[in-house]
Amino acid sequence: MTNSPERNPIWIAGPCAVESESQIRQSAQLLHDECERKGLHLDYFRAGVWKPRSHPDSFEGLGQQALPWLAEVQAQYGVPVCVEVLTPEHVRLCEQYGITTLWVGARTGVNPVEVQKIADTVRHKPFTVLVKNPLVADLKLWTGNIERFLQADVKGVMAVHRGFADNKENVLRNAPCWEIPIALKVKYPEMPILCDPSHLCGDVQYIPQTAQIALSYGFDGLMMECHPTPEKALSDAAQQLTPVQWAEMVSGLQCPVNQPDRDLLRQRALLKNVDHQLSQLLWQRMQIVDEIASIKKEKHLPVVQPHQWQKVVERYHHPEHDECYNRFLDQFLPLLHQHSILRQQDDKPHTES
Ligand code: PEP
Ligand code: MN
Repeated sequence: MTNSPERNPIWIAGPCAVESESQIRQSAQLLHDECERKGLHLDYFRAGVWKPRSHPDSFEGLGQQALPWLAEVQAQYGVPVCVEVLTPEHVRLCEQYGITTLWVGARTGVNPVEVQKIADTVRHKPFTVLVKNPLVADLKLWTGNIERFLQADVKGVMAVHRGFADNKENVLRNAPCWEIPIALKVKYPEMPILCDPSHLCGDVQYIPQTAQIALSYGFDGLMMECHPTPEKALSDAAQQLTPVQWAEMVSGLQCPVNQPDRDLLRQRALLKNVDHQLSQLLWQRMQIVDEIASIKKEKHLPVVQPHQWQKVVERYHHPEHDECYNRFLDQFLPLLHQHSILRQQDDKPHTES
């Protein structure tokens, strides 16, 4: 199914930054034309006005002078425009120009004090706020930022996953750490969560695959950078698609439908059964570990016995397992070992710190 009617993803597109009046007009016009041609609906037009850049000599955005141009795009095409805000003053300026969809960027997201100031400025007002993940891979920091807007009574809060800075030389600009946005989705099932494959990938060649992964995982939409002439872009040139490329790509994405399915329900019933057994077995295992602990203590035997643990690890491996399952075991078994050791300590912790 391509863009099935049962589940319409939220599409956000537009340039990294407003660079001039003509560039922003052209961006909006071309995106509009492509949407008409392909039967797509653009939910929001994005464009940065204040750009937090690493180096002071980089293009840092045109600031307030760009806002009337964006207000014009909004009026001419009937598409809400969204802008990154870094300070309460930015919020007030956007409001003044009728721009009520804002996003909090990854850099601002690492500073809860600044996020709170923005939340206080939008309090009880009809803003839509997109909360991007902070640069650091810290779910609590991200959810804390989201809570600030929920507590400020903002009705339209959405999360945006743009990957995490990890300083590793990977092909992707940022580490996806998919488990983090998935945990966020589980915590806030009703809140739309979008992916920003542009900042996540940093290079257009990786965008289609990442966009598809996000939709397949059940993300509710995509925010993507789109520039009339990406090679001339003043920021993030390598990751911006042309409007034609954007529309082509979006039209080719598979959007999973969210409907009950008989085959799926049958497998879930099996899974439920297995989970019950697994839970009981793990608990039973921990109780045996407690017994072993008493024996070791009574007989003055060491808690950690590496050869014994090696035998346990071997027990879990089997030639029929695939690579993916082996990777799971590589993470799971050390955790099991760690907890078994914890239970064998006199001062075993009963609560998480
Ligand atoms: C952006 O979307 O232009 C941007 C700067 O994003 P991020 O905060 O995710 O780097
Ligand atoms: Mn950008």
